[in-house]
Amino acid sequence: MKNICILGATGSIGLNTLDVISLHPDKYKVFALSANTGWEKMLKLCESYKPTYAVLVDPDAAEHLHKLAPEGVTVLSGEEALAKVAAHEKTEYVMAAIVGSAGMSSTLAAAKAGKRIMLANKESLVLAGNLLISAIKKSGAELIPVDSEHSAIFQCLQGSHIGLSKIQLTASGGPFLNTPLSELALVTPSQACNHPNWTMGRKISVDSATLMNKGLEVIEAHFLFALKPNQIEVVVHPQSIIHSLVHFDDGSVLSQLGLPDMRTAISYALSYPARQTSGVASLDLTKQPSLVFLPPNLEAFSCLGLAYNALKIGKNAPATLNAANEVAVEAFLDKQIGFLDISKTIESVLDAVPTANLDTLASVVENDQLSRQVAKSVIESRA
Ligand code: NAD
Ligand code: MG
Repeated sequence: MKNICILGATGSIGLNTLDVISLHPDKYKVFALSANTGWEKMLKLCESYKPTYAVLVDPDAAEHLHKLAPEGVTVLSGEEALAKVAAHEKTEYVMAAIVGSAGMSSTLAAAKAGKRIMLANKESLVLAGNLLISAIKKSGAELIPVDSEHSAIFQCLQGSHIGLSKIQLTASGGPFLNTPLSELALVTPSQACNHPNWTMGRKISVDSATLMNKGLEVIEAHFLFALKPNQIEVVVHPQSIIHSLVHFDDGSVLSQLGLPDMRTAISYALSYPARQTSGVASLDLTKQPSLVFLPPNLEAFSCLGLAYNALKIGKNAPATLNAANEVAVEAFLDKQIGFLDISKTIESVLDAVPTANLDTLASVVENDQLSRQVAKSVIESRA
């Protein structure tokens, strides 16, 4: 029986994780659950799963939950509580499924404490990739990707890079794959969040629409698999059936296929190196529409190019890109800026924030705060 801590339990990945866990009550015990503010949703989860700990970052929300939580559930609040449950001696596996940089310190805590980290929160790696990877090496923690493309590559590589020449991350192309550039300026947040293949949180949905999600995934792949930028390519595949490809020197290409359902990757992160049922139906290619592959349109979706550039520059550039993107996406969702202003904002922030090394947690936090401030002033100056 493995004790599981789910950070971001009320979100899309968190709930899918609970779905998979519910299929295997003999293997997994829900030890801790966390969310930001949603106490009603958390109360329902506490009633169903009876975790030992329930964390709500917001103290008022935690107070509400505390009054109503079932007996035996200890309610904690504050950001430090996330790291506390992630690193708790009884926690064995941590699902890192908080959205954005808010997930970084708890992921780092799990890394330092030597846990199995099932990583959905790609922003942690983009923000503090070197720190996280070195903490994992030092503690002997396991890092298992949950992002579907990276899970696919992880499954194909099985720990070995022998003969590996490059990888190709597949991208659905998002809801605006066929929208003319001239119309992109006027698309709305609800159109951007209406993804054709996946149901996800709003931030990653907008990232998928701008292709920044793929850009963050390129950087994520660099840290997860120790690949150079020119070994990581992106190919648009609107059906999301092939979840990524690994190319070898002899011309072989390995890939993992499956229906677009995150429970496959979540289940594999839980059961690795074994496999188990995930609740996902089996793929019948005879019933699928034709599989299509296209190069990405870098003119309409310049965020992807910005992410590649940031990765090539290295140092703080990926972290600056991530902070600027988080601020710009929030401003787009709040209707303060248009869709095409997202990439323009990020570009301005990357130009304005000086290059620096990020060797310590303090430098990561400082760079994140500075980049956010710059992004906010860029947005204000555009308004
Ligand atoms: P979501 O918005 O549905 O859920 C986010 C969760 O994080 C919620 O439980 C929320 O309470 C919590 N949270 C939000 N802000 C927080 C804060 N400041 N402090 C603590 N907790 C906070 O998001 P999601 O779609 O589940 O995505 C989660 C992560 O997984 C993201 O990093 C995303 O890029 C990644 N991911 C998601 C999918 C997907 O299919 N949804 C696929 C691949 C990767
Ligand atoms: Mg992905």
